[in-house]
Amino acid sequence: MFADLNSPFQQLQHPHLTCLWIKREDLIDPYISGNKWRKLKYILQDAAAKGKEHLVTFGGAYSNHLVATAAAAARSGRKATAFVRGEKVMNEMLVLCQLYGMELIFTDREAYRDKPACYEKHFGGHPSAYFIDEGGASAEAVKGCAEIITELPADIDHLFCAAGTGTTAAGLLKGIRESGLKTKLHVIPVLKGGDFIRKEIGRYVPLTDQLVLHTDYHFGGYAKTRPELLQFIRQFIARHGILIDPVYTAKMFFAIDDLAEKNHFSAGEKIAAIHTGGLLGIMGMKEKFAL
Ligand SMILES: *Cc1c(COP(=O)(O)O)cnc(C)c1O
Repeated sequence: MFADLNSPFQQLQHPHLTCLWIKREDLIDPYISGNKWRKLKYILQDAAAKGKEHLVTFGGAYSNHLVATAAAAARSGRKATAFVRGEKVMNEMLVLCQLYGMELIFTDREAYRDKPACYEKHFGGHPSAYFIDEGGASAEAVKGCAEIITELPADIDHLFCAAGTGTTAAGLLKGIRESGLKTKLHVIPVLKGGDFIRKEIGRYVPLTDQLVLHTDYHFGGYAKTRPELLQFIRQFIARHGILIDPVYTAKMFFAIDDLAEKNHFSAGEKIAAIHTGGLLGIMGMKEKFAL
């Protein structure tokens, strides 16, 4: 199911930037979306090599990673269980998880914090269980995300991605280094205090000055928005015909716009953005978009 793919790479008409491109990872699959597909590719390969048939993972109630894992498990004939942070709730994303046959275990925040203990308590000694960290964070995920670079042209000056755990950014930086590119990687943490991302990336790949962190585009924190971001999303989608999500990709595209306006780029430089998908995230804020 993880056959080779080459998601489209398209130019975007932009009011300030003559050369803005977008890597459409959102088109890989509607449910195993974007970077989650890249991450799961080698995670599932590792599980298969170890003969593991039951994926066990972790996420919040609006986690793109949970839907992706549920879909990937169902399509590869595996079982899946998710520890879901917080009290029992139901929403569009969790309904999809259940339809894909994923078992949901709602876990209070205290217990959720210690994921290995959670796993051990329920699945310790279970011969076919396979632990997948929150968001899929792992060396396998980094390896999968590094492959995105092999599908991009070598002459990109500035490459942008949104970051939650920083795993995708680590993979992109790894790919850039392995291909010997001069590309700068601009990372937009979607959480407040995003400086921690540097350390996360450093766990997987040596840091260089090719990594540029922009920590001021979190809009109040994870899954937080402001009216100007919502307005930006409406305009972007109507203008380009490309959906973006309020949790990740909108913050990245907003940052690109803002940096362009502040003359951060030189004339003629080639700028590209990874559309990491995550469009179900719109559902988590649907009331905010209803006019
Ligand atoms: C999960 C997700 C991210 C964050 O990826 P990390 O590897 O955790 O930094 C970015 N964009 C979208 C759309 C996501 O779903």
